Amino acid sequence: MIKDRYEQLNQEIGSQATMIAVSKYHSVEETLEAYDAGVRHFGENRIEGFLEKREVLPEDAEVHFIGTLQSRKVKDVIDHLNYVHSLDRVSVAKKIEQYSSHTVKCFIQVNISGESSKHGLAPEMVPEFLEDIRNYSKVQIIGLMTMAPHTEDETAVSQVFEKLKALRDALKQKNSGNIQIEELSMGMSNDYHIALRYGATYVRIGSKLMGSR
Ligand SMILES: *Cc1c(COP(=O)(O)O)cnc(C)c1O
Repeated sequence: MIKDRYEQLNQEIGSQATMIAVSKYHSVEETLEAYDAGVRHFGENRIEGFLEKREVLPEDAEVHFIGTLQSRKVKDVIDHLNYVHSLDRVSVAKKIEQYSSHTVKCFIQVNISGESSKHGLAPEMVPEFLEDIRNYSKVQIIGLMTMAPHTEDETAVSQVFEKLKALRDALKQKNSGNIQIEELSMGMSNDYHIALRYGATYVRIGSKLMGSR
């Protein structure tokens, strides 16, 4: 039952982090079941999937876009999104500025591990990116997001989370206006317990909460 798993996870995570239920592989019915269990934050990575769910979810459900957002799709979806976790291109920020009727809370996705399969900016590119989007007032930067490598090697995973936290701490001095880097979106079903040790404030939990697909 989603409800039992949600309560179990809630106890583990406590008040340190907001749990995002990654409902991307799950049906509208299962997503509503999670809402009824108390979930208010939902993570989606496909535009078709999430628009269908947004229609049936009550107003107080918040939707986090955790996949790659193509700039030409921004205008169709942005008013239905509360958070974007994958911002790594100025073109997307520009479209948000142009088409959104509200400010959108955004995380900059950072590719800490350096794996070529992963999206996100290299850490050293983030300062310049911040300058490029500083005047886009609808893009409210609230923090950084990363994905750890898929490995059993806890040390390698820990290092990625530790580096994101250090980058967040270093970038805080640049906070002003629409740039307020405070939050850390890191940790998924198999590594959220490690991410919490390094200060995660948003964890994105799919299979461990919603069930495997
Ligand atoms: C799918 C996905 C998750 C959740 O993955 P699980 O391993 O099922 O918890 C978290 N973050 C992102 C960016 C994802 O694409």
